[in-house]
Amino acid sequence: MRYVDEFRDGTLARGIADRVAHEVRPDRSYRFMEFCGGHTHAIARYGVVDLLPAQVRMIHGPGCPVCVLPVGRIDNAIALALQHRVTLCTYADTLRVPASGKTSLLRAKAAGADVRMVYAASDALRIAREHPQREVVFFAIGFETTTPATALVLLEAERAGLGNFSVFCNHVLTPAAIAAILEAPRGAAAPALDGFVGPAHVSCVIGSAPYEPFAAKYSKPVVIAGFEPLDVMQAVRMLVRQVNEGRHEVENEYTRAVTRGGNARAIAAMAETFEPRPTFEWRGLGEVAGSALRIRDRFRRFDAEARYGIVYRPVPEPKGCECGAILRGAKSPSDCRLFGTVCTPENPVGSCMVSSEGSCAAWYGYGRFRDAARTA
Ligand code: SF4
Repeated sequence: MRYVDEFRDGTLARGIADRVAHEVRPDRSYRFMEFCGGHTHAIARYGVVDLLPAQVRMIHGPGCPVCVLPVGRIDNAIALALQHRVTLCTYADTLRVPASGKTSLLRAKAAGADVRMVYAASDALRIAREHPQREVVFFAIGFETTTPATALVLLEAERAGLGNFSVFCNHVLTPAAIAAILEAPRGAAAPALDGFVGPAHVSCVIGSAPYEPFAAKYSKPVVIAGFEPLDVMQAVRMLVRQVNEGRHEVENEYTRAVTRGGNARAIAAMAETFEPRPTFEWRGLGEVAGSALRIRDRFRRFDAEARYGIVYRPVPEPKGCECGAILRGAKSPSDCRLFGTVCTPENPVGSCMVSSEGSCAAWYGYGRFRDAARTA
């Protein structure tokens, strides 16, 4: 398949690995965070770490939509379904994220709540149209990748004058999260980083320009990369070069999809419907100023938070779960005592074991926990 097969070529991968090995300096280490769960998945699936020299360490970041959603937000969604008796629509992984009291949206569904899995935001809108007697809420999560689709359903709901549809908005912003990671005092809770592999799909929407301010401010290079293994390998090589040359620029490896300006129509739709929240709690990162979106006043009648008086309350992580530290890059999945024993993809304790983009699920699914010694 074009744009896929040629980016999974083993011979080419070994060639890039040889060049990386040739270019790394023996007297230093290189610690790069791949922000996106899609990259974590590619690294685990294709054994990218196995090809890299020992000086290069890949650190998983918080770029997994369901992983970063705090427990309290899932509790809010469950309350919508169980107490307000709405038809709650959301993406599949979200259904399985553990909430307070060993509940989840899937368990709420089993208890009789009308919770439905959708593939797209527009499916929720269709359900609202088909069931005018039902109150339908779309539980919207995700980074800038999924936000434009939510923006479009808000615009369409307004155009159609739908009275039984609203959105519980939990969309988050990538550049603010990366800045928060870099702002955190370095130490055990926040490892030192030499650069970032920048998101693929998010960058298709927002472009490469939004990373420029923090690359300059924090002197950290960013290389935006596609999700195929050769993309990641090439991005690592570009990062190694920037570090060696003392540069901290935003470079774009994923030129087949990402431009500097991004997708203007998607950006305009998001700006029309959403505005930044003053602050938002992330699992692992805590409260991060300006790191999420809320629905603009013009669309208030479609805002589930206003319509149902949703109040967010922070809830502690499940006991023993290290998702917070993993999402900050401070720990690896195998550092968690529950990994692979109490916590498995069939029986997830924390959010990082739910989605395929979650670090714990990727490590478990591809047997990367066997590499713990190598990546520690
Ligand atoms: S293995 Fe499970 S409990 Fe441990 S950090 Fe990962 S998701 Fe949390």
